[in-house]
Amino acid sequence: MNTLREVLASGRRSFSFEFFPPKTPKGEQTLWDAIRRVEALSPTFVSVTYGAGGSSRDSTVAVTKRIAAETTLRPVAHLTAVDHSAAELRRIIGQYADAGIRDVLALRGDPPGDPRGPWTPHPDGFSHADELVRLIRRLGDFSVGVAAFPERHPRSPDWETDIRHFVAKCRAGADYAITQMFFDPEDYLRLRDRVAAAGCDTPIIPEIMPATDVRQIRRFAELSNASFPEALARRLDAARDNRDVSYRIGVEHATDMSCRLLAEGAPGLHYITLNRSTAALDIHANVLGPHPTIYGETHELAAAH
Ligand code: FAD
Repeated sequence: MNTLREVLASGRRSFSFEFFPPKTPKGEQTLWDAIRRVEALSPTFVSVTYGAGGSSRDSTVAVTKRIAAETTLRPVAHLTAVDHSAAELRRIIGQYADAGIRDVLALRGDPPGDPRGPWTPHPDGFSHADELVRLIRRLGDFSVGVAAFPERHPRSPDWETDIRHFVAKCRAGADYAITQMFFDPEDYLRLRDRVAAAGCDTPIIPEIMPATDVRQIRRFAELSNASFPEALARRLDAARDNRDVSYRIGVEHATDMSCRLLAEGAPGLHYITLNRSTAALDIHANVLGPHPTIYGETHELAAAH
């Protein structure tokens, strides 16, 4: 199998799906149902987020290893520097290497409890993602991804500083970046142009968040510092008591955005699934055309949503 670095360097479009570690046995079942549906599409990779602390972190490692062992999928493990010494991070990366996992998304993370609170690095750990990128690179032949922010990282004082740090993180050894969620394609295109103007050609994969539930999406957008277009918010608000209509609005908006991004040369799409996959699969089917093995199932699921 080609490395993710090679796949992206070849210019082939990447399609990927993001999951989070489940907290309950029922959540575990829902996750695995979604993973199996996604597997039928042979995506470029799937990724598993890393929790703020405690048992969800062990669950990230366990789910990522199980994907590597029991599916045909390429798992990308998210990893953050929050509350970890460099030695602990080395140990986790070693566990991934032992399980044959060669893809890590290197993140700094946010302060647990209050993501906007003051950032305090672990005394024996890292202050920024570039240090984690360097560590992973030193430890073996990994493909390393990093985070990018179409509306600028909320802690960056200005665009110039934001881009300078992003480019430094790429030069530390990142093969690709995945963006924070956003809802206006222009934000992605402006970021890409700024990065290119700074002389950096690291592929930046846009993250696609289906906005099918206005209450939930407002919360996520606020947490991620993503602005939510008024026109879309108004349409979703008007449909807030009709799940089928708001589902269709969200899928339609994400489909339009995805098509525009690909037409503008984005290297792929990274879909947030929230472990349910239905909306992500519908958007993907709209973008690429229906896939014979899942088409019927996807649309039954969409109807049942
Ligand atoms: P950094 O690159 O370290 O940047 C953080 C801030 O520091 C920025 O303002 C940057 O400009 C500045 N900076 C960077 N380098 C330097 C430097 N050398 N000197 C001074 N300033 C610097 N969080 C999780 O907890 N778990 C996840 O699984 C997870 N997955 C994510 C996936 C994606 C695709 C994205 C976009 C984000 C994800 N996050 C996750 C959230 C992420 O951890 C936060 O957004 C965090 O605030 C920033 O992480 P970073 O890796 O971009 O940090």
